[in-house]
Amino acid sequence: MSATPQTRIVILGGGFAGLRLLYRLHSALYQHADIILVDPRPTTLQKPGMPDVAMAGKSVELFRHRLQPIADRADASFIQASAQYIDPGKQTVALSNGLVIPYDYLFLTMGIVKDYDAIDGFRNFGYSMCDDVEAPRLQQALRKFRGGPVVLGTAKTEWGHTVPIPHLDVACEGPMGEVTFMMDHSLRRLGLRDKSPITLFTPGKQFLEDVGNTVQHILQERMGLKNIHMLQNKIITGVSGEAMTFADGTTAPSALSILIPPYAGPPVIKYSGLGDDKGFVPTDHVMRHLSFPNIFAAGDVNALTIPKLGHLAIIQADIAAATVIKDLTSTGDVPLYKPEVFCIMYEGGSEATLILSDTMYGGHTDIALHGVSAHLMKWSFDSYYFYSHGHLPPDLVQAGLESVLGHVNIKDPKL
Ligand SMILES: Cc1cc2nc3c(=O)[nH]c(=O)nc-3n(C[C@H](O)[C@H](O)[C@H](O)COP(=O)(O)OP(=O)(O)OC[C@H]3O[C@@H](n4cnc5c(N)ncnc54)[C@H](O)[C@@H]3O)c2cc1C
Repeated sequence: MSATPQTRIVILGGGFAGLRLLYRLHSALYQHADIILVDPRPTTLQKPGMPDVAMAGKSVELFRHRLQPIADRADASFIQASAQYIDPGKQTVALSNGLVIPYDYLFLTMGIVKDYDAIDGFRNFGYSMCDDVEAPRLQQALRKFRGGPVVLGTAKTEWGHTVPIPHLDVACEGPMGEVTFMMDHSLRRLGLRDKSPITLFTPGKQFLEDVGNTVQHILQERMGLKNIHMLQNKIITGVSGEAMTFADGTTAPSALSILIPPYAGPPVIKYSGLGDDKGFVPTDHVMRHLSFPNIFAAGDVNALTIPKLGHLAIIQADIAAATVIKDLTSTGDVPLYKPEVFCIMYEGGSEATLILSDTMYGGHTDIALHGVSAHLMKWSFDSYYFYSHGHLPPDLVQAGLESVLGHVNIKDPKL
């Protein structure tokens, strides 16, 4: 197919993946395609900022960016509505505002649903930092907290079986590590740490199973230094005012219970029959839907995305954009899909740990860097995203590491 002014590209969801696609497609196709961005929210939410809202009391507004000006800058139309039904036969999307919009290419970038209600008692007794409703709620609870056991952890998520993916019990544990360290820091500052034992549980065999032994070792050392107690193989089922309960019948006394809930595929994917058995979208390694060649998925909604990380959303969006640009213009190369875990865990104060690992995917990179430089790098990422209106290039990983370590080849397994 070649691009004509009538080529209509619809992007469903303006998060990390959707905005990356918008920028990439605009810069390559602006003369050839009409781009429509659809999102029920007026703002995109920078979720990696939510631990700062929950634990450090930062304003949530610092992490919301208005979508209309972002779309304007990319010469795209923005429709504030939610996609409710996709008809791949007719190539249309029915929206919550009654509009039915046609597409030539469709990008599924609507993320996932966090299923808080899967955990008994969560709404009354549980807290989370996952979004702009829960993070301020946790900050309120922290302000009233006068000490007692604090239990934090991630629920088990079930994955579909259509595409081969590495085994992982959780969707994304990095933010929970970050909040655990920040909790330790806050409680010490408030003089409450002595009467507030901190326990971090995981449904996996160990916390952060998606990284290799080197990173594991450094993280465990840091948790030990901060006197954080670890519980493995614990699948949360419920939370009350006094305790968390687990599937094996055990309980952990808790005065403050903080969770990342199970992730689930979005309803529109299920209703439209586009998902696997758990509602995530199965694609090949150029992010093309296995059954519909003009539908692509990138980010958390894609079944390949393990763990659910913004870094992978960006990598996938680049691949999907390059594939469609090549389809339409016969130019450019499509990068290979080489997943890696990259995150920076802020610990409070000026400390952070940067993690880069691809061992879960068969690679040899497994790096953890602890210190002020890692914190500065996180700060630069956040600022870059803020001031560039939603850009988060993965090449910054290499650039950032070079600035922290001098010249370094991050693919060198000997590091
Ligand atoms: C607390 C926290 C901290 C994190 N920290 C990091 C980190 O440090 N580094 C990292 O790499 N990752 C981090 N992550 C993970 C990262 O935020 C996600 O992987 C990333 O946001 C996924 O991007 P996405 O574009 O797929 O989805 P999202 O960013 O969730 O965006 C999806 C968009 O789609 C919209 N949408 C939903 N339903 C519909 C619909 N039916 N129709 C149209 N639009 C719809 C939503 O409103 C939203 O704007 C963190 C996650 C959390 C929860």
